[in-house]
Formats: sequence, structure tokens, C-alpha cells
Amino acid sequence: MLDNLSSRLTDRITDTALLAGHGDFAGEGRLAVRDPATGDLVAQVAISDATGACAAVDAAQAAFAAWSTTLPQHRAATLHRWHDLILAAKEDLARIMVAEQGKPVSEARGEIDYAASFVQFYAEEALRPNIEGVTSHLADAEMELWREPVGVAALITPWNFPCAMITRKAAAALGAGCTVVIHPSAETPLSALALAELARRAGFPGGVVNTVIGDAATIVGEWTRDARVRALSFTGSTEVGRLLYRQSADTVKRLVMELGGHAPFIVFKGADLDRAVAEAVKAKFATSGQDCLGANRFYIHRPIYDEFCARFTAAVERLTIGTGMDDPDIGPLIHDRQIDKQKAHVADALAQGARLLTGGSVDEDLGPLFFRPTVLADVPDEAAIMSEETFGPVAALSVFDDEEEVIARANASEYGLVAYVHSLDPRRIYRLTRALQYGMVAVNRTKVTGAPIPFGGMKQSGIGREGARQGLEAFTEIKYVCRDWG
Ligand code: NAD
Repeated sequence: MLDNLSSRLTDRITDTALLAGHGDFAGEGRLAVRDPATGDLVAQVAISDATGACAAVDAAQAAFAAWSTTLPQHRAATLHRWHDLILAAKEDLARIMVAEQGKPVSEARGEIDYAASFVQFYAEEALRPNIEGVTSHLADAEMELWREPVGVAALITPWNFPCAMITRKAAAALGAGCTVVIHPSAETPLSALALAELARRAGFPGGVVNTVIGDAATIVGEWTRDARVRALSFTGSTEVGRLLYRQSADTVKRLVMELGGHAPFIVFKGADLDRAVAEAVKAKFATSGQDCLGANRFYIHRPIYDEFCARFTAAVERLTIGTGMDDPDIGPLIHDRQIDKQKAHVADALAQGARLLTGGSVDEDLGPLFFRPTVLADVPDEAAIMSEETFGPVAALSVFDDEEEVIARANASEYGLVAYVHSLDPRRIYRLTRALQYGMVAVNRTKVTGAPIPFGGMKQSGIGREGARQGLEAFTEIKYVCRDWG
């Protein structure tokens, strides 16, 4: 089907009607993709079922022997071509993303750069040595550790970063020599199909990259049961992560789980307040709040609490809200379940004594999925928003008195993805970074991500890391060879 698509396309990939018909192994069923800003139908995507999911693994398994034994230079060159094609199609990919995901177009362009950076990184990583010597403890024996690709890898991705979450997994797996079956979220299949088309143009052989759209439980259920799928890399909610962890047990798959977050944002007296406010706005409202790294709970030191509340609220009130192509600060949320969650968290916090400083409701003039950027103050720890991921533009502020107290409150969570700390006291920063039970700790800044760092969380925020050298671990295994030449 992809061949058919490419023969009808020139250099454009924005024709969503064309893309929509060309998922790998697609059948007669159709999935409606809607623009969250307007509710308009963007495309009807052809979908697969369990048979298609199984056929994708057949194809990936058949392609594995050849792909895993190509020269690393060949794999690297193919990844470099994919990288270049992604960047060349940046504007098209950004527009597709805005149409199905709703994010502001500047953020969509930024995501394409971010997505491409993983492809470049793992193209280069593919050339690094994958053999390590061992100092022998046995007379006459020579020892080596080889890193070998595991086989077929299943990649399951969410809607909030519809391109970057695919490349972060796929580039590592493909560079290591695995073949992949990809299941994107039902909300954002077009970004996945566009990336798949660019991968085909980059020259990945048939069967190496397979994108399967359809009912998640059916497609992914088929893959978790299939013993030929040797690794499963999932980004999404902790709830679905737990389910896939259980489902993968019978076939003992290698797992990467990038799950939910519930980031604390801690500001101490003496911090650069201008900076703390500016970074707090970014940490909460990027991706319209629908970000696993999004700050959910703000703990502010009592001596600066009132001033922080006032300045933060003023900054939030300056944020613009609108449709993605107008490039506002905040776009629509993805679907009505996200709106329901914002409303529920706001109502619950207010019922428990919180104060509403700004926002708190849907902007009906813009449409049913636009939630006004919201600030709540004096939110008690018992409020749902202080323990559940809100995944939207609602900030919950709370006061604290001392360091020990705030560390305990920040760590009192099943999540452990990222924590933000603002202080100019080096000893305090040292103590905090040691004590916080988070996979990533950001000090006096918000942006921490990028291809060279191992992204991932502690506790129920996940297993394993993505990006960096560590991102290859789930897609490779160590073979120990002990040789005696006789
Ligand atoms: P989700 O868990 O609902 O869906 C993620 C993926 O799982 C999608 O592809 C979906 O189709 C699939 N899925 C859903 N139900 C399934 C089932 N029963 N069986 C198999 N597959 C199933 O998450 P979402 O709403 O798409 O994304 C938001 C969540 O993702 C948030 O919790 C967020 O924190 C998390 N997230 C984490 C990271 C990270 O790197 N840690 C990055 C982005 C998003």
C-alpha cells in the first residue's frame, strides 16, 4: 500500500486523505481523526485488526535476519537519510500534528526538531563499538561481551508527542539492528503514517518498519502474546503500562516503560523569583499542560509565597489561548476526557478549601476543548490534584515551611519522573538533588530533555531509559563468549 501511496505523492506528505489509506496491513475498517480545535473531520484512516497485527510481526520477523546483519554503516546511513527527510518535511509534519493533536504550531515545529535529533543520535550511536573485552579469570581463556539486537520490537506511543515518542524508540531499535512494529495512539495516526512514509523513502527495507493503526487492546494484545516480539517499549499512562507489564510476563519480553509523571516544582526563598516564575509557566503550560514532564504541584516557601502567587498568576493571565495554527501559548486539549479531568480537579480542590486565582473553566467562545489556564492557591495535600496526574493547564500552589517537610511531600507520590527545584543555595541544591526520588532533577531551569540524556522515571513512572547510550539497552542483549584456542 505504501508503494501505491508514494507513486501518487510528489514531495508533499500533507495530503491526509492519501496518507490515511495507507497504514501497513490495513483492512476495511476506518478510524475518524478529528481536529481537537474545531471537531472537524481531518481524515478517515484505514485500520488493521488482530490478523493485521500478526502479519506485521511476520513481516518484521522475516526482515530481521537481513537487517540485523547489515553493516552498522548501512543502518547509520539509512537513519541519517530518515533524519534529513524528517527535517526537510518539518513544515508538513508540523501541520499534520497541529491538525490532529492541536498543539501550537511553534511547539509542533520544535517537536519535529526533537524527533529528528533522536534519529541523528542513534545513527551515530550505531557506529560505536558493540564489543567489550573482559579481563579473564580463567587460564588460557579469552572473553568478550557482544551486544546483539533482540529481534522484533513493539513500540507503543501516546498522542501528546506523536512524532518524538516514535523516533525516540524506533531510531534506537533500528540502529541496534532490530525490526519494529509501531502502534501509535488512535488520536494521532497521521503523524505516525507520515513518519512511516519518510522511513520508506529513506530506504529501510520492507518489513523493517511496520506501522499498525487500530484498536489498541487488539493490536497490542496480539503483540504481547506473540513470543517473536522480544522487546516492548511503551510510552503512556501508568495504568496501561501496568497492564502491558502483566501481559508481557508470559513471553518474558524486554521492557521499557515511560509512564506518567506528577512533577513537584519547589521554590525556596532566595531563588531568582523572576526566573522561577518564568520557568514555572513553562513547566506547567508547555504542550497545553499535556506533558508527562508537566509540573503538577507547586510548593512555595512561606516567605515568598504571596509574592510568587501574585507574580505567577499575572504571568498566567498573559498567556494566549487559541487554535494551533494561530500559534497561541495554549491550544485545545485532546479530548473531552481531559476536559472532565480539569473540571474535576478544580472542583475537588475548591471543595477542599483551595482558592481560585485565575481561570477554572472552559472557554466556550473558542470551543468545548479549550480550558483556560488556571491557578489554584492553598491547595491541601488531600486534594486529588496533589496526587493524580492532571495532564492539563491547571496549576496547584501550596505553601511549605522547611526543607525536610517539602522533600517528604515531594516524594510522597507513586510517580518519580522529574522534579524541579529553584534555589541559589548550593548546599541546599545538593541536599535536594540527593533526596528527591526522581529519575530527572532540574535545578533553576525547566528544559532538560534531548537525545543525549537518559530520559526516564523512578517508581511507577517507568522502567528503563530512552535516549542516550542507555536507550539501546532494551533493544540489545549481551552475549558472553569465552574462547579457548586449544
Ligand atoms: P495511554 O496510556 O492511554 O495510551 C498510550 C498508548 O497505549 C496509545 O498508543 C494507546 O493506543 C495504547 N493503549 C491504550 N490502551 C491500551 C490497552 N488496553 N492495551 C494496549 N495498548 C493500549 O496514554 P495517553 O493518554 O496516550 O498519553 C498520556 C499518558 O502518557 C500520560 O500519563 C503521560 O504522562 C504519559 N507520557 C509519558 C511520557 C514519558 O516519557 N514518561 C511521555 C509522554 C506521555
